[in-house]
Amino acid sequence: MTPERFYDIIVIGAGPAGSTAAMYAANAGANVLLIDKKKDIGSPIQCGGFLPHYEELEELLPSAQLPSTLEHIPSSCIHTSTRIHRFIAPNLEPKEFEVPADVLDRSRFDKYLAREAIKAGAELMVATRVDSIDGDMVSVRGVHGEFTIKGKVIIGADGPTSLAARTSGLIDRSDDMGRAVALEYELAGVDIDPEAVEMFFGRDYAPGGYAWIISQGGDTANIGVGIRQPLCEKGVSAQDYLHRFMYEHARAAPMFKGASITAVISGIVPVGGAPPQTVKGNVIICGDAAGHLIATNGGGIPTAMVGGKIAGETAAEAVSGKCQLAEYDARWRKQMGLEIKTSVYVKRLMDGLMRSDPMMSTAMKMLTPEQMKALQRGRLPEPVKKILQSLNTGIK
Ligand SMILES: Cc1cc2nc3c(=O)[nH]c(=O)nc-3n(C[C@H](O)[C@H](O)[C@H](O)COP(=O)(O)OP(=O)(O)OC[C@H]3O[C@@H](n4cnc5c(N)ncnc54)[C@H](O)[C@@H]3O)c2cc1C
Repeated sequence: MTPERFYDIIVIGAGPAGSTAAMYAANAGANVLLIDKKKDIGSPIQCGGFLPHYEELEELLPSAQLPSTLEHIPSSCIHTSTRIHRFIAPNLEPKEFEVPADVLDRSRFDKYLAREAIKAGAELMVATRVDSIDGDMVSVRGVHGEFTIKGKVIIGADGPTSLAARTSGLIDRSDDMGRAVALEYELAGVDIDPEAVEMFFGRDYAPGGYAWIISQGGDTANIGVGIRQPLCEKGVSAQDYLHRFMYEHARAAPMFKGASITAVISGIVPVGGAPPQTVKGNVIICGDAAGHLIATNGGGIPTAMVGGKIAGETAAEAVSGKCQLAEYDARWRKQMGLEIKTSVYVKRLMDGLMRSDPMMSTAMKMLTPEQMKALQRGRLPEPVKKILQSLNTGIK
């Protein structure tokens, strides 16, 4: 294989992780190629677009250096803003706390991030699929033809089914409990609380996860379910659960009466945490590809971008001989490893609770709003642990 092009760094995937990695690597002076198989960056969308405000993110990831692109988000990328997070227990009791947040138009946001990478000097190739990675050679096929590219470093930012993670042997995604399936509808004609993001718990609607309503402004919303297959009833699909939620849920369904579905969105959410290693040879992985996600709420936009920033910076330093590429692993774990790991632990504990609707309702009644906020962020404060232990959930 004779390569037709040469780069310092090849970034696979122009999602939040990849574009952020490309921007930081190019800003540091590296010669960067950013590749995505999508014909139109950001489309189709595979996200609800919920992103807490910068100050909330600083609290969520207190040790992380957040990328500048999280601080200044153009208003054209924001559908609307919300203020409240409301949890609805299986017995329909609500409980709420404040989380100032934006609801992003992910398609526009992803394009914005890719443009920032281009502005920094990265080259972007769309409609180009990476077929294989062999050492420093990457074979691609797409709008520019079929050819091979050589890169000193390859950053796999290619999402939850990452080719880079699989072919380098960094991730084995055979664990079904480590993957949630998410299915969403965008709706027009809803009658919802525009200030609140609502999360509904209950085995009939979202086993092993939750159902949600996220306002997109006016009478539009994104509703969805995140479920885990091993916890589902036999023969009941994600679509069945979403339809139950939309048409039968005693509290939610009336809000959707007469609404029309304007888009169907689906995807995989890697809730099993990060693998033991995220660097192998000249390949590093970040974002969903590396399990950079808060498992308790399925939010991965900010963690993907933090992972991308560290990947881009470390790769650029490595190609100029200022550090070893292997340092990437310790660097991202120092900034957000604890939060990601704890959220997986808390999610596993919550799995026990979610097997019983009455127990889940009791727990939600006993917890204060602030304690719920902590759980949702993937934390387990001591008083919450005690409450869960008192419910005999098996928590030690
Ligand atoms: C239905 C759903 C709803 C969600 N809602 C939220 C939410 O509200 N808030 C939140 O914070 N998180 C949410 N998430 C999670 C969030 O979307 C991800 O964590 C985030 O997109 C991760 O960014 P990423 O850049 O790592 O991966 P991605 O955004 O998946 O980007 C990966 C990119 O790689 C490209 N790619 C993949 N393979 C190849 C290949 N072989 N060659 C070339 N290109 C390739 C893809 O086309 C894609 O553009 C949701 C996820 C799902 C599935």
